[in-house]
Amino acid sequence: MAQEQRVAVVTGAGRGIGAAVAARLGADGRAVACLDIDETAAGESAQRLRADGVRADGFVADVADEDAVERVVAEVAERLGPPTVLVNNAGVLRDNLLFKMSGDDWDTVMSVHLRGAFLMTRATQRHMTEAGWGRVVNLSSTSALGNRGQANYAAAKAGLQGFTRTVALELGRFGVTCNAVAPGFIVTDMTRATAERVGQSFEEFSAARVAAIPVNRPGQPEDVADAVSFFCSERAGFVSGQVLYVAGGPRG
Ligand code: NAP
Repeated sequence: MAQEQRVAVVTGAGRGIGAAVAARLGADGRAVACLDIDETAAGESAQRLRADGVRADGFVADVADEDAVERVVAEVAERLGPPTVLVNNAGVLRDNLLFKMSGDDWDTVMSVHLRGAFLMTRATQRHMTEAGWGRVVNLSSTSALGNRGQANYAAAKAGLQGFTRTVALELGRFGVTCNAVAPGFIVTDMTRATAERVGQSFEEFSAARVAAIPVNRPGQPEDVADAVSFFCSERAGFVSGQVLYVAGGPRG
């Protein structure tokens, strides 16, 4: 009997890495819920997938908002089917040196990355445990190893690694795996914004990063999407609680 089509939710799917992950999971045969805080961007991502023949829809929610997350996961289940693949990708930066970092900068980053991943995973796991199958992938970062100007972001991305291992331990018995992908320097609006903040052109900023990358090129969103695709696949069922650095070398 043909297996029912799995439904994937990708947060922050409006652009950058999330949009590439949504496209890749669609190409892998999943139905895809493109979720973003920006309704137009979510809708446009879904529209691009549909043009490629993928069953996809746009959904809007702030992943840090508990009620919005409960509502949107129910909407996904109703419109596309019970979600059993989740990619926690939505993210924001509020970079600053520690002595200049505000409490709000800290809280915002913690809310979107950590609380967002927690709320989305808690809301979708019930569909996964019911199905006896599930895949959760969290976007960490090489910044988890420490990065100047990113005390908040580094702490959140390191926190996601502990969250990943714990979800793997708790949900493994239900056929649910949980892994993390930790990208290095990837060309997206997020890294363009960082270049702007440090007062460099993107070309200058990129060249300095690439000089420290063994494979001698910047990463592209598709590089990350390929790694996420593996963790979300049927054949990755014995891989759980792992962190895969996608950084062109042993670290970014
Ligand atoms: P991006 O281009 O800034 O895209 C992030 C997406 O997340 C945007 O569409 C954004 O919506 C959405 N988003 C932000 N806050 C949200 C919220 N509260 N609820 C729902 N959606 C929200 O970033 P990216 O570079 O693709 O990064 C994606 C992930 O990879 C992030 O977790 C990031 O930390 C991680 N990462 C990136 C790099 C890199 O080099 N780019 C490296 C390591 C890790 P808006 O457009 O409306 O803000």
